Amino acid sequence: MNILVLNCGSSSIKYQLIDMANNAELLAKGVFERIGLKDSELKHQSKRKEPYMLIKDVEKHAEGIKIILKALTDPNHGIISSFDDIFAVGHRVAHGGEIFDSSVLVNEEVKKGIEQYSELAPLHNPANLNGIISVEKLLPKVPQVAVFDTAFHQTIPKHAYMYALPYSYYEKHKIRRYGFHGTSHCYVFEKACDALFMRKDQVKAITCHLGNGASIAAIKNGKSVDTSMGLTPVEGLMMGTRSGNLDAGALLHIMKKNNMTIEDANNLINKKSGLYGISGLSNDMRDVEEAAWNEGNERAQLALNMYYYRIRKYIGAYVAVMNGVDLIVFTGGIGENGPETREIICKKLEYLGIKFDFEKNTDLKGKLEMISKHDSPVKIMVVPTNEELVIAQDTFKVVAAHEDEVNIDDDL
Ligand code: ADP
Repeated sequence: MNILVLNCGSSSIKYQLIDMANNAELLAKGVFERIGLKDSELKHQSKRKEPYMLIKDVEKHAEGIKIILKALTDPNHGIISSFDDIFAVGHRVAHGGEIFDSSVLVNEEVKKGIEQYSELAPLHNPANLNGIISVEKLLPKVPQVAVFDTAFHQTIPKHAYMYALPYSYYEKHKIRRYGFHGTSHCYVFEKACDALFMRKDQVKAITCHLGNGASIAAIKNGKSVDTSMGLTPVEGLMMGTRSGNLDAGALLHIMKKNNMTIEDANNLINKKSGLYGISGLSNDMRDVEEAAWNEGNERAQLALNMYYYRIRKYIGAYVAVMNGVDLIVFTGGIGENGPETREIICKKLEYLGIKFDFEKNTDLKGKLEMISKHDSPVKIMVVPTNEELVIAQDTFKVVAAHEDEVNIDDDL
């Protein structure tokens, strides 16, 4: 029961082959970068095999996926003997808009839906769709499932997802908050509840996904009720290169002053801002910490202070939104590996009655751990995220349910 998980970006394809019949064992993984550019590069690794690398000009996703399938079935560096060993393919799809509130089996209608929301996710949805169409051609008999980054947040109430713009913009163009990182927020929330024996339908949780992209979600009784990313992933927290919240008027002013095009402005808020923009050094948290703490770099320290401040501000807001909190979860590269970030944020939340466990909050090396004291009224957890696993699990469930339906129909 091998599931191929594909995450097709505008110029990359990340993939994993996961065996669902064997405790979701990871059989192979890799990344194809620079698709559409010169010297596209594949890095492939199968279980218990030597890593494999290939550099070749690859123009289209279809060609890249074909090479990945070849690598997976190659006698030397592959792991399966034929394409028949692929039970289904699960795709990470960025934007499911208001149509998709869960993972779905791909059909013509689903493809149209993904295309419809390309306007709101121009870098991601077209690439995701491209991946789906390519697999259709290469593996025509293999079912495909679309797993949406936005789906988990479809439970957010209207007063929280609307922007206070003229209502017609929502009616005509569906301008509203959608939120992203849904698979991650849902996964770490469930994992934390399971580990603590908490009932998911009775918990007020705040999940902090702190990676290069970062977002925070308020989850009440198992349902997302608010999240920091909006129509696009720019809104909310300060990120590696994204500005997060910004006065829309400030952007208009900057554009006017600098004669900027829409592309320039987009580049400014997505690629040149955040930790990178303030520190002037790097979008990587480790570099910014190094400069601030070991070299006394003031702008790096300012970037860190802004970063922590905004997370605390959101946590405070979400406590108000839910009228309390029982559980705070940290995940993502920084959330999982940055004990200092976790400590600085949680130390200043003592008004919630949090009893932070400074001794447990160390370098956890990818472990799930509770970092609050046992008698803390609010539990703090670190949970390594695994979006690929969620995609594989959803894909397996959706395809199995569909096959059951077909079998029942046949029996009737
Ligand atoms: P992406 O959003 O690209 O998936 P990740 O979740 O991999 O990003 O997170 C990348 C971030 O995690 C980077 O800012 C990186 O510096 C940070 N990070 C990784 N390891 C550590 C560490 N040991 N301490 C602090 N930050 C870390």
